[in-house]
Amino acid sequence: MPFEKLLTAFKTYSPHTDTASLLKAHDFSRKAHENQNRASGEDYFIHCMSVAEILTEFKMDLPTVAAGFLHDVLEDTKTTPETLKKEFGDEITSLVQGVTKLDALNFTSKDEAQAENWRKMMLATAQDIRVILIKLADRLHNMRTLNYLQPEKQLKNATETLTLYAPLAQRLGMFQLKSDLEDLAFRYIHPKEFGEITAKVREQGEIREKALEMFKKELEKHLAAVGVPHRILTRTKNLFSIYRKMQRQQKPFEEIQDSLGVRIISDTIPNCYALLGVVHSVFKPVVNSFTDYIAIPKMNLYQSLHPEM
Ligand code: MN
Repeated sequence: MPFEKLLTAFKTYSPHTDTASLLKAHDFSRKAHENQNRASGEDYFIHCMSVAEILTEFKMDLPTVAAGFLHDVLEDTKTTPETLKKEFGDEITSLVQGVTKLDALNFTSKDEAQAENWRKMMLATAQDIRVILIKLADRLHNMRTLNYLQPEKQLKNATETLTLYAPLAQRLGMFQLKSDLEDLAFRYIHPKEFGEITAKVREQGEIREKALEMFKKELEKHLAAVGVPHRILTRTKNLFSIYRKMQRQQKPFEEIQDSLGVRIISDTIPNCYALLGVVHSVFKPVVNSFTDYIAIPKMNLYQSLHPEM
C-alpha cells in the first residue's frame, strides 16, 4: 500500500506528529483528480502520490507533504481555495496557492542572465521556501516520466530543467537532487553522449565506489584527530557533470580527474581552513589546481575550498 509506505517514511523523521491530515489530503486529492489521466495513461493521482513521496524523502514537514498531495488541485480540478482552507487550514492552502502561482511564471529564454532573473523571481514569488521544494519534487517526478511526452515537449522540459531547476536545487544545497535532475535532462538533450558516458561509468562501477569508501575512511582517521566538527560526504560525479567537463576541457572520459570526490562540511570559515590544513598535510595536492572560493566567492555566492589531490 503506497500510503502506508509514505506514512512509515514520514514517521521515521517525525514520530510525534499527528498525521490525520496526511490521509485526508491523500483521499481529497484522489477524489479531486478522479477520472483524470496523465500522458502515460496512468491515473493522475499517481503523480500527486509520487510528489508527496519525494517530499518525505526530502524529510519535509507535514504541511508540505500534505500540500504535495494537493499541489495540482487548484490548477487542474474544480477545487477552490475556499474549500481547501475549510478542509485543510491556511498553512497548507497557502503552500498549494504558492505552487499554483509559480506554475504561472513562464520562462522562454535560454539566456543565462535571464535564467538567474527567473530563479530570483521564483524565490521571491514563492516567499515560503517549502513552495520551491514542492515545485522541485513536482519537476523531479515529471522528469522521471518524461518519456511519455512528445519529443518537442521532452526537449523543452529537459532544457528548462537544466537551466532553471537544477541550479535552483544546487543553490539550496540539494546536491543529489541537482544531479538527478541534470542526468534526467541530459538523456533527452544529448542522447548519444548520455549513452556513451553511462556505459563507461557502469564499466567502472564498483571499483569507483570502493575506492571512494577507502579514501573516506583514511580521511576520517586524520580529521578525527584534530577535533574540529565536520561531516564527510562522498560523491561520484554525475553523468552530466562528467559530460560538461569533457566539453569544457576538450578531454576524453578517461582523463577527467575528479569523477570521484568528497565534501567536508564544517561550521565556520576558520574550521574549513583548519580541516584543509589537515588534508594538505596528508595528501599531496595537485600543482595549480587549488581554488579558494571562500576568499574569492563565485558570482552565485558559492563559498568553498577546492583542492585536488
Ligand atoms: Mn504536478
